[in-house]
Parts: sequence; structure tokens; C-alpha cells
Amino acid sequence: MELNRIMAIMAHPDDAELGCGGTVAKWVREGKEVRYVICTNGDKGTKDRGVSPHLLAETREDEQLKAAEVMGVKSVTFLRHRDGELEVTLAFRSELALLIRQYRPHIIVTHDPWRPYLLHPDHRAVGYTTSDAIVASRDHLFLPAQTNAGFNAHSPCEIHFTFPETPDLFVDITDTLDLKLEALEKHKSQIKIRENWREMITAMAREFGKKGNMQYGEIFKRVVL
Ligand SMILES: [Zn+2]
Repeated sequence: MELNRIMAIMAHPDDAELGCGGTVAKWVREGKEVRYVICTNGDKGTKDRGVSPHLLAETREDEQLKAAEVMGVKSVTFLRHRDGELEVTLAFRSELALLIRQYRPHIIVTHDPWRPYLLHPDHRAVGYTTSDAIVASRDHLFLPAQTNAGFNAHSPCEIHFTFPETPDLFVDITDTLDLKLEALEKHKSQIKIRENWREMITAMAREFGKKGNMQYGEIFKRVVL
């Protein structure tokens, strides 16, 4: 089966570009449909004392939409949970499962919650809850209210976890690194914190590329379901 619908479920605006931007650009070039689900509003992501949390949230949503446009992403769903306060709950699980049942992705990309010392609570919560939501979305007796409302069970084929400890999927992004950088540049509120962000991202892509014998790469842990 052709795996041509992809959903990236990430904690914050910019996580998708950072973790899988080159891969997403590649998928879009191949004609695949990529959608983003951004779980928090990113309203704590600044060192600037002059910016209010709600202005920051608004800015980051705007930045994420612009970045998604650069990549050719089909839709961005903002769940607008508060930054830094996500927890693994049944409510959050069913929220994600509903989106999986609605858009029926073949591949889901998310944070790797099993990476040791993954410090950010939102990255852990999103990784765990997305994994739980995949289980809940695939059997019709889970979440019967969704099934009754016409959101039928759906089973994705693969999960690609970003920044894993033990990668087993290496994607060559040599041809799309420029798009990844162009998309990241839209996250102005974030990149302004580090002047040399372009060099850092390029060095990371080079480092990951080495693992797969390619010039620039992104790495994933792939789980086939
Ligand atoms: Zn993040």
C-alpha cells in the first residue's frame, strides 16, 4: 500500500520543522499529503520579558502557518493547550485519536518519549499520548462515541519518532535542507534567540547524515504497526 497520508503530531510550533522538516518537504514533493497537529500554543517560548504570553501565542501560530506554507503542508490544526503543561490524560488521548480517525494518516510522526532524559514535559506527553491515541484509534470499541458519530476506527501503518536514541530510519534531506531552513526562518520569535541557528541546524543535518552515509539527513525510529 502506498503510504501517502502523513500526520505530524508535535508539541510546539517549530518542532515539526526541527525534527522532520526536510522529510516533510520531500514527502510533499512526492505528492503526499502532510498535515500538522500542534498541541500547545507555545506561549512560554521566549526570553523576552517584554512579550506577553498571549501575544507570543498569536505570533507563534502565525509563524507556524507561514512555515507550513513554505513546506506545502496541507493543514495545521492548533490544539492550543498551554505550553509546558501537557499531561498524558484520557481526554488528550481521545482528542488526538479523533484527529487520527478523521484524517486517517498512514504514517504518524511524533516525539520519541522513550529517549532517555527527554526533559521537556510536553515532548514526553505528546510522544506518549500520540502512541496511546494510535492504539485507541484503531479498534472500534475504543471511544465508541466517536465511532457512533461516524469517526470510524483507523489504523496507521507506521510511526516515525523524531530525535531517537537508536535511529533505524535515515532520510536523505540533501535536496530539501534549503526548504527546511527557509521554513525555520519563519519562526522568527524562536530563531532570534540564537544568531548562528542556520549553522547549528546545518551541522545537525550533517551529523545525522553521516549516520546514513549521506550529506544531510534526518533520523527516526520507525515502528511498523
Ligand atoms: Zn518543542
